[in-house]
Amino acid sequence: MRGQTIVSDRLLLRLCAPVFENHFAMSSDDRRFNPVFSGLPTTIFTVMSALAAERQAINLGQGFPDEDGPLAIRNAAARALKEDSNQYPPMKGIAELRRSLCAHTKRFYGLSFDPDGEVVVTSGATEALTASILAFARSGSDVVLIDPSYDSYRPIAETAGAVVRTVKLAPPDWRLTEEALRAAVTPKTCALVLNSPMNPIGRVFGRGELEAVARVLTASNAVAICDEVYEHLAFGDHEHIPLASLPSMRERTVRIGSAGKMFALTGWKVGWVMGAAPLIEVVAKAHQFLTFTTPPALQKGIAHALDHEMDFTLRQTHELQAKRDLLANGVTGLGFNVLPTEGTYFLTANIGELTNENDRDFCLRLVRKAGVAAIPLSVFMQDAKPDNFVRFAFCKKREVIEEALARLEKYFQGEKRYGASLVGS
Ligand code: PMP
Ligand code: GLN
Repeated sequence: MRGQTIVSDRLLLRLCAPVFENHFAMSSDDRRFNPVFSGLPTTIFTVMSALAAERQAINLGQGFPDEDGPLAIRNAAARALKEDSNQYPPMKGIAELRRSLCAHTKRFYGLSFDPDGEVVVTSGATEALTASILAFARSGSDVVLIDPSYDSYRPIAETAGAVVRTVKLAPPDWRLTEEALRAAVTPKTCALVLNSPMNPIGRVFGRGELEAVARVLTASNAVAICDEVYEHLAFGDHEHIPLASLPSMRERTVRIGSAGKMFALTGWKVGWVMGAAPLIEVVAKAHQFLTFTTPPALQKGIAHALDHEMDFTLRQTHELQAKRDLLANGVTGLGFNVLPTEGTYFLTANIGELTNENDRDFCLRLVRKAGVAAIPLSVFMQDAKPDNFVRFAFCKKREVIEEALARLEKYFQGEKRYGASLVGS
C-alpha cells in the first residue's frame, strides 16, 4: 500500500511539477513580445485550480463560491436575454444599473454619485482596475501598491510605463502605517491602489489607517484606486469604510466593485468604477478601448440584484463568517497558526510549526498528497518573502470545508504514523 503510494507520488510529481513550475517561470527574452507579459507566469489561481482538478483535490485555492447566487437574479438576466435587445448597450453601462449602483452606495455609505457622469460599468473588477490604472499611470510616474497585493495591479501599471513602489506590510498584524506610506508616496506618485477588505490577507483597514492614507494623499497629487470588491465581507466589529467617504477624498478616489463577489456570480464578470466626474471621464476613455461594454442581460440581472437581492449579500456575510470560524478552528487543531481574518473569502495561516518547507513546496505537497489545494502567500509579494504562510478560501459549502479538514487530518496523521516528519518528503 505504502509502496504503491510512493510510486504514484513519483508519477504525480512528474505530472504536477511542470504545471506548477510554469507559474514561476519568469523570464523570456523573445523580443517579439511585451516583456511585462511574456515574462509573467500563468496566475497561481489558474495553476492551482488545474492541479486541484487533476488531483480531484478540494479546491480551497481559487476564491470562488461553489454555490451560485439567487435564482431570481439569473431569471432577471435570462428574461432580458430573451426579451430585450442584445446589441451594444451604452458604453458606460445601462442606465438602470448605473442608477441602482448609485442607490446602493448612498444606502450603505451615504455617498452620492451621479449615475450619468460618475459611474462606469465594466467587465468585472479586473477590467475596472485595468481601466483605472491605465487612466492614471504613465511613463515617468510611480504607482504605489500595498504588498502583499492582488496579482493584476502590477503588470498593468508596468505596461502603462509606470514604476511600481510598494508599501510592505508585515505579519502577524499587517498594519498600514503613515510612516511607510510617506516613504513610498512622492511627487512622482500618480496612483495608490488600496484594497480593503484585502485579498490575500483578510485585513479590513480601520479608520485610523484610512485617515493616514488620506493625509498622505492630500499632500500629493496622487489618486486612490480603491479595490472594494469585498465591500460586504467585513466580519464582526470590522466595518468597511470607503476611502471616498473621508473628508476631501471623494475628489481624488475611484472605488471599484464586483457583482461577482456581492452576489456569488463570479463568472458573470460585471464590475464598476465610481468617482468624481473628471476622474471617471478618463477611466471611461480607457474602458471604451478595453471592452467598450458589458453584456446587457447581465447588467439587467445585476440591476435587479442591487434593487431586490441585497438580503442575500448580507446573509452571505454571516454565513461566510461562520465558515471562516469552521476552517480556522479546524486548521488550528492541525497545527496551523491562523492569523486574524477580518474580511474577504480568505484565511491566512502560518505553516512554520508544521514544516520547514517554503509555502510553494508545502502547497504542492498538500494538493498532491492530502488532496486539498491552497495558495502560497508569497506569490502576492514582490520579494516572495515571508514564505511561511498559505491562503485558504472558505467561500465553499460547509460539507466541502469539513471534507477538506478531514483529508488534512488524515494526511497529517498518516505522516505521523509512518514516522515521517512533517518537514516534507
Ligand atoms: N480584486 C480583488 C482583490 C480580487 O480578489 C478579485 C478576484 N475576484 C478581483 C479584483 C477581480 O474581480 P472580478 O472577478 O470582478 O474581475
Ligand atoms: N480573486 C480570486 C482569488 O483571489 C481569483 C480570480 C482569478 O482567478 N482571476 O482567488
